[in-house]
Amino acid sequence: MKPLRSVAIFGAVGALVAAVALPAYAATKPEDAATTVQQLAAVDAQSIVVASEATTAPVDRGSFSATTPEEIAKKKAEEAAAARAAARATTASATGFSVGNYALVSPGSGEVRYPLPQGSYNVSRTLGNGHNGADMVSPQGTPIYAATAGVVRVSSEDYYGYGVGVVIDGVVGGARVETTYGHMTYGSRQVSAGETVAAGQLIGFVGSTGRSTANHLHFEVKVNGGLVEPIGWLAANAG
Ligand SMILES: [Zn+2]
Repeated sequence: MKPLRSVAIFGAVGALVAAVALPAYAATKPEDAATTVQQLAAVDAQSIVVASEATTAPVDRGSFSATTPEEIAKKKAEEAAAARAAARATTASATGFSVGNYALVSPGSGEVRYPLPQGSYNVSRTLGNGHNGADMVSPQGTPIYAATAGVVRVSSEDYYGYGVGVVIDGVVGGARVETTYGHMTYGSRQVSAGETVAAGQLIGFVGSTGRSTANHLHFEVKVNGGLVEPIGWLAANAG
């Protein structure tokens, strides 16, 4: 019984394929020919062989890019591969996040880069009154870039009140510069602890994790160990 059942299942799938292929086929062939193929496929599972040959052989190949099930499968595989390649080109890992219309690397050529795309954020709060950095309000999923080159000291899904956070140790103009990025979206980090990053490299995406009530980047800067006001520091150094 087993081999027979296999044939029947194969026939059922074949009938589906034949039915899908029919509209295109019918466009170039008389109506009755299409009906015959459909009926054959439905009535007798083994007629898949006939149906398959009948649909592929007489078709005007010039009007199709793919006709046989094999060609369609191959074309779909090629399209999927192309889509994966495109996805890799716009995001640094297979995390499912994408920079969308923004640049993969923060624009500029200097040692310091803006951590968010220019025009994508509003500063709601900055250094002072017990707050150690700048809150840059931006939609969830906005790409976050390393403000300086350096080594990733922290990359965590649960970095205290920062939530999903990254800390980078860098050197700018001979000074030690430590930058902290907080409240990223879960699962969006693009760098690991110990990794060396370039200025402007994509490190994650804006979210509202940790001690946060709205999507924003908490951006903190320490120069030679002391906190500095991040927005003024960016204005003076980024580019
Ligand atoms: Zn903050």
